[in-house]
Amino acid sequence: MSEAGAGMHCYESEELDSIASDDEESQQAPFSQANADAPVREVRLELGIKFENLEHFKKAVRKFNINISRSIFFPRVDSTRCKAICYDEDCPWQIYCAKRSYPLSFQVKTFVNEHTCSRVNKNKSADAKWVVEELEDKIRDHPDMSQRQAQDFFKEYDVIVNERKIYRTMVKAKEIIKGSEIA
Ligand SMILES: [Zn+2]
Repeated sequence: MSEAGAGMHCYESEELDSIASDDEESQQAPFSQANADAPVREVRLELGIKFENLEHFKKAVRKFNINISRSIFFPRVDSTRCKAICYDEDCPWQIYCAKRSYPLSFQVKTFVNEHTCSRVNKNKSADAKWVVEELEDKIRDHPDMSQRQAQDFFKEYDVIVNERKIYRTMVKAKEIIKGSEIA
């Protein structure tokens, strides 16, 4: 096949994909690829779903539970696996993700998606540390982000973060980013 022909074919299939993707894409793959960067309300978790790494898994698990006002934590994390359980001892909700070698990915092996605990007002999953981490990611992608934009960003999380705190967090996040660039 000539190079020109291959290029043309590729162009065509990309166009078709972008047309079909709106409603169909998510249901087609047997083990779908998770998107940890999706907005809180759109983060999906399911058995068999794959992540690029455990950081993405943790990010998605936090967002998923923030959206339903539940607090979870990660009692077991190492380089090959990660487990999250509910803060409420009597609640069965849990998710477990482990490394797969071929092809390399991290896949959800156990998922009990049932919270018997009640919704919480003060969400421990959306603590200050989490806020800083999320904002750090955002500022890395958009270094010129204004405080107003940062505030709008947190609105979709249903996390109440006051202006002073966002300001402090932005300063802190920018310092961390600067620090890691120097290192
Ligand atoms: Zn629970």
